[in-house]
Formats: sequence, C-alpha cells, structure tokens
Amino acid sequence: MSEGVPAWLHDGVTAARHEVLVALDGDRLLITGYGEVPLGQIRRLDGRQMVFSRADLKGWRLGFDQEPPPPLLWQLPAKGHYGGPIDRIGLWGFAAIALVVSVLVVVGVIQGLDLVARAIPYSWEQRLGDAISGDFGEQACRAPAGQKALDALARRLSPSSRPIRVGMVDFPLVNAVALPGGRILIFRGLVDEATSPDEVAGVLAHEIGHVEHRHVMVALLRQFGIGMLVGSGGTAAEYGQALVESRYSRAAESDADDYSIRQLSKARISPAATATLFARLSKEEPDMPGLFVYLASHPPSDERQRRFAAAAKAMPMPVPALTPAEWDSVRAMCSGRKK
Ligand SMILES: [Zn+2]
Repeated sequence: MSEGVPAWLHDGVTAARHEVLVALDGDRLLITGYGEVPLGQIRRLDGRQMVFSRADLKGWRLGFDQEPPPPLLWQLPAKGHYGGPIDRIGLWGFAAIALVVSVLVVVGVIQGLDLVARAIPYSWEQRLGDAISGDFGEQACRAPAGQKALDALARRLSPSSRPIRVGMVDFPLVNAVALPGGRILIFRGLVDEATSPDEVAGVLAHEIGHVEHRHVMVALLRQFGIGMLVGSGGTAAEYGQALVESRYSRAAESDADDYSIRQLSKARISPAATATLFARLSKEEPDMPGLFVYLASHPPSDERQRRFAAAAKAMPMPVPALTPAEWDSVRAMCSGRKK
C-alpha cells in the first residue's frame, strides 16, 4: 500500500501515541508500522468522533482527526447504541450508493457511471491500481535504465499533475493496458513488435488518454458494478484480466486517439510512426496470438491511421521519443528477468 489515511494509534501496550496511515484491504485495515486488523474486530466508541477500539485488545485506540474518505469511511462501524452489522455505516453507505445509482441509471447508465467514476478519490484509484499491478508482479521487468527512459517518456506525454506510472511486463502480446490510478502496463510484445520508440510513444499516449478521461474506472464499474467501491466487486486479478480484455466504446477510443495525437504533437514526437504501426498490424495475420488482444480492442482502422498520418504532416522537425541508447535499454528491460 503506497498511500493511506492519516490517523493516530494507541496500541494498548505502550503509552505512546503513534501517527499512522490506514488503508483498506478487503476486510482488513492495514496500519503502517503496526500490521493488519480485521474490520470485524473494530468497534466505534460511543459519543466520540471517529475513535475506534478493538474487541479483542483492551486499551487499543485508533482515531481519525478528520473524517476518512470513502470507501474506508463506509467500512468503519457507525456511531450508535445497537452495535452489530445492521448499524454499520458500510451497509447504510451501500444503500445510499444503490439509491444514487438507481437515480443515475434513470439519467443514463453511462453518464451515471462517468459521474460515479469522477467522484472516486484519486488516491483510492491509485491503491486499486497498485493492487492490480501487484498481481502482474511476477511478470514485471525491472531494469533501472529502461524504467528511467519510460518514466521520462510518460512525463513528456502527460501534462496533468496526476502522476503516470508506467511499467513493463514480460508477456509476448502486442498490448498495453491502462489500470486505475494512472498505472499503465506495456507488454513486452509491443516493444518487440515496434520498429521505433515513436510507435511505443503513440500507444503509450493513447493509454494515458484513457487514464485522463477516466475510462478505466467506468469500464470496471460497468463490469463489476458499484459494489466494487465497497470491496464486493471482484479480485485484483479479475479486474486486471477485465481491463486487459476490455473494449472501450468507439467514442472513448476516439477520445484516447485525440489525446495521443495532441500530446505527441506537444512533445514534438511524430504521430507518423503510430500510423505506420497501425498499417503494419492490420496487414499481419489477425489470428496471430500475439496480436490478438490489442487488435481486438483497438482495430487499426483506416480512419485511425489517417488521423495520425494527417497530424504528422502538420509537424515539422519532430524529435525521436527516445535516444538510441534509451530505446536499447527499454528493449532490453525483460531480458534480465528471472524466470
Ligand atoms: Zn484504447
């Protein structure tokens, strides 16, 4: 867990008060420097704001000076005299969300999910992205020089204050996937297939476009339902699988392409290479297993090709996305991986 909600803790053993960070992990609270506590053991102290005790540990206190954000807030026991699950704000929170969503469904499902996605705190999304990306951990290619080159490229292509964290995974598929919280995974097959770093830059910028437009959370909410906000949607592995296979709407793809073209132009990287990549991919055997996933979700249509090619014409004197040495280091990222 890279982030958490600030809180204070008396561990019930020593008198010291510890400043801690609290994060939600399924049905447990993760407390930095302390460990895990099952939510079922947490009780709210009556009459006191946001202070919690533990059923199994006398003197243990966890307090929040400020109300923690959802979904942590919803999972903590509510104030009240009855105790028991019926009184837990998690359930009321859930009921409230269900009500809001049913109203939004009337307004329009897609717009509704878009509104819900925009209301989700980015830090929560980042934790979800960390969990999903952690599930790919076994395949992660960690190589400092290549990573540095990818990080620098992602920064050039992303003007937003939200950090983009890009990683490489050792799969032979020609693919890249955006995860929640600005995480993007590039599959080794894409780098193997690419003939220049500009081709990878075009795909990376497209995926950053999906992040910036919040398409990722909308796709997950559509598939797993609003319950995922309170921890009852699916597992990190299921979310990851769904995103790898997800097909965004045509409108979403078009938005991501627009974003890609705009950012390539700003970074003075020629979109011509991306057009070439599309042209090449569309000519190769579509049933090649390595190509299937990306082609299925991103058909390299003539129209997409034309848009990137037209933008390239408008750009004099482009600069390569990476230096030859950086490109070599990116291409070598998975070669040292322990299998
Ligand atoms: Zn896309």
